[in-house]
Amino acid sequence: MLKIYNTLTRKVEDFVPNVEGKVNMYTCGPTVYHFAHIGNLRSYICEDVLEKSLRYMGYDVKRVMNITDVGHLSSDADTGEDKMLKGAKRENKTVMEIADFYTKAFFADCAALNIKTPDVVEPATNCIPEFIKMIEGLLEKGYAYKSGPNIYFDTSKLKEYYVFGNQNEDELIVGVRDDVEEDKNKRNKNDFVLWFTQSKFEDQALKWDSPWGVGYPGWHIECSCISMKHLGEYMDIHCGGVDNIFPHHTNEIAQSESYIGHKWCNYWFHVHHLNDRSGKMSKSKGNILTVTVLKENGYNPLTYRFFCLQSHYRKPLEFSYEALDNAVTAYDKLKKSALRCTQGEQGAVDEAVVKEYKDKFIAALSSDINTSSALTVVYDVIKADCSNATKTELINSFDSVLGLDLLKPEEEKENEAIDEELKAYVEDMIAKRAEAKKAKDFATADSIRNELASKGIIIKDTREGVVWELSK
Ligand code: AMP
Ligand code: ZN
Repeated sequence: MLKIYNTLTRKVEDFVPNVEGKVNMYTCGPTVYHFAHIGNLRSYICEDVLEKSLRYMGYDVKRVMNITDVGHLSSDADTGEDKMLKGAKRENKTVMEIADFYTKAFFADCAALNIKTPDVVEPATNCIPEFIKMIEGLLEKGYAYKSGPNIYFDTSKLKEYYVFGNQNEDELIVGVRDDVEEDKNKRNKNDFVLWFTQSKFEDQALKWDSPWGVGYPGWHIECSCISMKHLGEYMDIHCGGVDNIFPHHTNEIAQSESYIGHKWCNYWFHVHHLNDRSGKMSKSKGNILTVTVLKENGYNPLTYRFFCLQSHYRKPLEFSYEALDNAVTAYDKLKKSALRCTQGEQGAVDEAVVKEYKDKFIAALSSDINTSSALTVVYDVIKADCSNATKTELINSFDSVLGLDLLKPEEEKENEAIDEELKAYVEDMIAKRAEAKKAKDFATADSIRNELASKGIIIKDTREGVVWELSK
């Protein structure tokens, strides 16, 4: 029986899905205004392992993910700028160009890390009619109100707002930036915006007509609507990083359960953060490392996946190149030993041994997705006293969950598409900088250089022209 930690109850619980044998699973997708950093990707690696573990255990899984291409503000309060708009301004592109570029970059990173694409991937901008319908429903039921230019969710109408282990207000507020001005239109401090209208963001690029005026949705509404669109009103597992617990998931529960009138999702799976020595890796702080940078520094992206699997998803993980180098050594050794099992005399597959080790592997995963114990089972198989054919079959089977390409002879996994895109993007930026310099617009030229630097791309003016490299 799978046991899994549930943030709702703060306990490790038996996993019992709503419908026997089936799992409805939802993952909060990326905000596509920047490259995903390897911290974001830690969350997606762990969620991928969860999905693959469930499939390995025989569940029929349907997994849905959104793409946040509108509505996520640069602070977790309802003030501040839309992150997508910020990205578009920074790169002098339209919001849709930004969304398209970073969505492709995200899936290229996922492919390099052997992260399976969820069964359904839906961008928020596809679902505006569904958002409007839910907001109308919340207004009709008295859970939402119009104030000034916006529609807000009224948290005072709920019996229970902080459902995650009853954290108190002070604990939760810690996670929210306090340098943002409070929105005067809110009736209660924790109320959040469901729909913005143009009067608040005059330069908002993407706007839609709505019963409340031309505008755009708040951030939280998308996950409630997109999950219900594809998974219905009952969900088994909802995933995200721990920073999503408040306010995002808290608000998702508030609006979803008010709308449908019953409990929505039974298990909440949250992945702890990847930190570096300066703290949590975050796109807005700028201390980000990407898969492309790892590759440029000579790392096979799967060694990062291995690094993540060595630790438990419920513990913060500190990244350093020294730690990654240790993972590389261990990964290379493991892969060499695994490959040795495919060589030489194979013999016959011993079904009893296969079952014994598969049971051990499932037991490790059933213990709250204990990936490091699951890896230990792989080491045990390699050392086991059985035929090479048996070992090969087991390692192959385990790798359908671990995703480490343990039996793939050549570890080179080139991702040329994204490299080409990156090249085209940098060259475009260099050309724009040259134009700005020609027009003596040095402020723009500098901001382009800084923008590239914020992505780890360093440009140098040489006698032969401008050259660029990824920072080490
Ligand atoms: P975002 O693109 O900011 O919406 O984040 C995408 C996913 O990455 C969400 O599930 C976040 O909770 C998660 N996340 C953000 N920062 C980190 C981090 N440093 N470590 C692990 N997961 C993170
Ligand atoms: Zn979400």
